[in-house]
Amino acid sequence: MESDSVAYILGEDGPFSKRVDNYTTRAAQVEMAAAIEETIAQKQTLLAESGTGTGKTFAYLVPALLSGKKTLVSTGTKHLQEQLYHRDIPKVLETLGLNAKVSLLKGRSNYLCLHRMSLARGSSRRLDSVQLAELEAVNNWAPKSSRGDIGDLTEVPEDSRIWPQVTSTIDNCIGQDCSFFEDCFVNKARKAAMASDVVVVNHHLFFADKALKNDGFGALLPDVDTVIFDEAHQIPDIASNFLGTSFSSWQVMELCNDTRAAELKEKSLISKLVLTADELDKVTADYRLSLGLNERRVSWVDLLDEIPNLPKKLTMLANKLTEFSDVLEQASVAGEGLTRCYERALELSQACQRLADETDDGDVVRWVEVARRTFRVHETPLNIGGELSHYFGNKLQARIFTSATLSIDGDFSHFQQLIGLQDDAVQRTWESPFDYFNQAVLYVPEGMPQPKEDSFTDALFEEVLPILQASNGGVFVLFTSFRILQGFAEKLAEFDFNVLTQGDTSKRELLADFVAKPRSVLLGTMSFWEGVDVPGDALRCVIIDKLPFESPFDPVIKARLNAMQAEGNNPFMNYQVPRAVITLRQGAGRLIRSVTDKGVLMICDPRLRTTRYGRTFLNSLPRMRRTHDRTKVTQFLARLAQGESPQ
Ligand code: SF4
Repeated sequence: MESDSVAYILGEDGPFSKRVDNYTTRAAQVEMAAAIEETIAQKQTLLAESGTGTGKTFAYLVPALLSGKKTLVSTGTKHLQEQLYHRDIPKVLETLGLNAKVSLLKGRSNYLCLHRMSLARGSSRRLDSVQLAELEAVNNWAPKSSRGDIGDLTEVPEDSRIWPQVTSTIDNCIGQDCSFFEDCFVNKARKAAMASDVVVVNHHLFFADKALKNDGFGALLPDVDTVIFDEAHQIPDIASNFLGTSFSSWQVMELCNDTRAAELKEKSLISKLVLTADELDKVTADYRLSLGLNERRVSWVDLLDEIPNLPKKLTMLANKLTEFSDVLEQASVAGEGLTRCYERALELSQACQRLADETDDGDVVRWVEVARRTFRVHETPLNIGGELSHYFGNKLQARIFTSATLSIDGDFSHFQQLIGLQDDAVQRTWESPFDYFNQAVLYVPEGMPQPKEDSFTDALFEEVLPILQASNGGVFVLFTSFRILQGFAEKLAEFDFNVLTQGDTSKRELLADFVAKPRSVLLGTMSFWEGVDVPGDALRCVIIDKLPFESPFDPVIKARLNAMQAEGNNPFMNYQVPRAVITLRQGAGRLIRSVTDKGVLMICDPRLRTTRYGRTFLNSLPRMRRTHDRTKVTQFLARLAQGESPQ
């Protein structure tokens, strides 16, 4: 075997075996690495599904780093980015004795903006005492920071209201005209990325770059030979957000604030300027009020039925924005800050006018996100595959899409269509090395009512309680709705468990508490269905209330389903079921995280057994032993809770 082949490197006699603690050779990992090596050499596209525990991170990093080609790795979250940059890539480079210039690049809101910090300090009268103290802390930290990553300043909380005032957006960055441009942290991070061999980004940043090329700095990401998307199953939803357009009250209010700050600094002395900003703030707030008290996502068409004078009110807002941009045009001679505000006002007034004048064109769905104090009008494409095919159509680049959950019952076509990939993409699957048949039991209780019946939530609690008791905690209960979660949490509070409910504190703290304390039961909704890793016997059982179908009343889902129906396509089988299968596979994947883990996956939805599509869900799950017998399950869990290893 060649000493530079991935098979040797990741194999029993290779450097990983010799130099990496607790390293075990895995046949699937070696095969996957070889397939990726081939993909990079041939500039192909590979869809690589690799089950939990395959070791996919090393499987793509080893061939990518060995190739010496310029590589972009995009992953799902900032947390995973940090892990790759600080832990995995250095480990692979060190083990292989390689050198490479590696950069970590985050979205611009993660970096301190020196220009906005100076504006905030100049108009600090508007800040309360907490914000003033935080601004001072930021100001003291700035000269000591080499990369300006605001996550490094832990003494200011992540959700502090000072951060939006000292970080930039594409709207308020003044780019090349900025007097801090040479020292700008965003600029420096991007320059470093351009000059690197390997750049680690997240999917949000990748698609933001694709959607917004012109943000004052030119291209955000370098041209590369290889792109690797980890957690690739998240791409369709993330891309969908960036491919659309939107107009928000937040943008307008930010513009008003920035104008006041710029006026303080640049002093156009046009008396109407601040007055018009105040009036615009008020018209925007009035528009929000007219949308009703409830926070919701609602289609434009439904809103028009409810509030017939909505376009008229939007026209009033557009007119006020136009008036504001006219005043700003006069003021813009005073300086770069006011000039940028003028450009933003012009863009916003045109966007708002277009929304007031036109209806959506059928290729997009227009909908409104109504929050407590703000609103955002979105136009989201119904079919993102067409748009994405432009991004992924470069034949001079190797592309690897990997995740534990890309296929539906072994079929990749759903994912492939969603992201507009050509048919020539190579598809490979590597099973998890875990012995699910002996490590896990799938329990689908008998006699549960249909989820739409009123009796479902009570029956759910009655079925789940004996399981929690037998298992003595060590259970995740994953819900499809926050309403059911809350009802369940209230009932469970009467029992002697360490009940941890999503939203009580941060995800990290909930998980730490779950592992540290006995009799823990964690109740979570969607954010706990993936990206949560609790290996060992702290987690013995995962319970799922229902098959995770998305609400057909969500405006985007509803529009997509209607469009498919109109084309004669079956939206339920070809859209709703595949998406729910991927989510279920992610949720189920929380249970077995190592070769020694054992546990029970309980799914309380009778449709799994009684419907034809239930088979698609079952066939997409790892092959576990199945039972409907509660006694067998409680005995299994009781032994597990006592530290035994039940068969
Ligand atoms: S260039 Fe943009 S991000 Fe950088 S300091 Fe200036 S305004 Fe802020």
